[in-house]
Amino acid sequence: MSIKDNLLQIKSQLPENVTLVAVSKTKPVSDLMEAYNAGQRIFGENKIQEMTEKWEQMPKDIQWHMIGHVQTNKVKYMAKYVSLIHGVDSLKLLEEINKQAAKHNRVIDCLLQVYIAEEESKFGLDENELDEILHFVQTRGNAEQSGANDKMQNVKVIGLMGMATFTDNQTQIKKEFLNLKSLFDKLKTHHSSLTTLSMGMSGDYKLAIECGSTMVRIGSSIFGNR
Ligand SMILES: *Cc1c(COP(=O)(O)O)cnc(C)c1O
Repeated sequence: MSIKDNLLQIKSQLPENVTLVAVSKTKPVSDLMEAYNAGQRIFGENKIQEMTEKWEQMPKDIQWHMIGHVQTNKVKYMAKYVSLIHGVDSLKLLEEINKQAAKHNRVIDCLLQVYIAEEESKFGLDENELDEILHFVQTRGNAEQSGANDKMQNVKVIGLMGMATFTDNQTQIKKEFLNLKSLFDKLKTHHSSLTTLSMGMSGDYKLAIECGSTMVRIGSSIFGNR
């Protein structure tokens, strides 16, 4: 099937409240343009340099999502155009995003990446660290209202992102997705800005949606294997 057929087929299966991020990492601009011409406007990349090259070459109504691990010293290269950063896993990184966004008079939306998988190698925050960051962001918000100088007004934490363990064991994947969903619901009661739950990739997005995902990141099922 063509990229267009793949895309339209997946889109026809998604509930209305679920946003599709077309993960185009390693794929040439011509492939992305095929998806663009079929109506796709949100693309996900995991390397800042590659994303920037594609941003330069492609139509400007595209929303670019950074889905990979972000090094603090590279935030500056995407601050003027990136639309959502999925993998925020430290306060230090969030502060750098805030600083770089301010230089462009922007507010950059961010997701906090949560550690849900069994593998040691996956990046992410645990529940205590999440609490700490959200508390910090919220306190700064209050500081802003009271006129204090020290603010975080150029970032907005709009939700959480997680990656399940790389396994065929559906029971385990489901357990991890449900853990993330319940954490999301719990945090939402105190932090009303949390609206987005990014979970699910080509192999597990249907399960992720059953478990409450509102944003799926799909690459190989649209563009083919990498
Ligand atoms: C590559 C990647 C995806 C997409 O993976 P597919 O299996 O090709 O759908 C989703 N999320 C992240 C964080 C990725 O790095």
